[in-house]
Amino acid sequence: MRKPFVCGNWKMNKNVGETRSLCAELRTALGAFSQVELAVAPVFVSLPAAVDALKGTNIGVAGQDCHAEKEGAYTGNVSAPMLFDAGCRYVILGHSERRTYHAETDALVAKKAAAALAAGLNPIVCVGETLAERDGGKTLTVVETQVRGSLADIPEALAARVTLAYEPVWAIGTGRNATSAQAQEVHAFIRGLLRSMVHGEADKMRIQYGGSVKPDNAKELMAQPDVDGALVGGASLKADSFAAIVKAMHEARAR
Ligand code: PEP
Repeated sequence: MRKPFVCGNWKMNKNVGETRSLCAELRTALGAFSQVELAVAPVFVSLPAAVDALKGTNIGVAGQDCHAEKEGAYTGNVSAPMLFDAGCRYVILGHSERRTYHAETDALVAKKAAAALAAGLNPIVCVGETLAERDGGKTLTVVETQVRGSLADIPEALAARVTLAYEPVWAIGTGRNATSAQAQEVHAFIRGLLRSMVHGEADKMRIQYGGSVKPDNAKELMAQPDVDGALVGGASLKADSFAAIVKAMHEARAR
């Protein structure tokens, strides 16, 4: 059985002091959920504070991006080995905000994912369609192109360390989540696609849902058979709402 995995994407929120405070609250709020794999993704400068504050807990730390090269003249970037060295064990890649504001392509995401794996990080690779693409009936085609392209450089033997995050762009930060049926349809489609790409390893890969996950919709979304957890933005910025989502995931699997 796949261990469910919930990650909080803090985006460009929380300075060092705020990171320490939220991590301290999470230590208390999330201690009981050892059956769910957990991570939080603060901004780069707050990563050491988060690693320190979460030491000895079941909550891992994720970078929000990494560069595909190990080091060099890439002003403003951070490499995968540097994230690992700082104590991260995960990295979010290809988030729609990176794809939109930094023009990241599937080919670049694939390079970053391979670099992350080589550095010992477990990548969370994001895919998802825009509203125009959904309305145009292109959801599955778009998602297939992104999954195939973004995982193109992943060796089959390492695929189980990769988590896919299905995040419909129209649901991110909008308060409008995909219905559980919409999420399950795409997750099942991705699972089938992964089976054709990495065979038996596909059933070990987690597929998170992301897009306006909140305490009041988490239970239904997390109960879907191919929804293995969540990538949570806004609701991960408060310990109580993040904990409620983790609890929903825990209860969905305990049933
Ligand atoms: C995200 O940024 O990955 C996300 C899902 O955000 P939100 O939960 O705020 O929609």
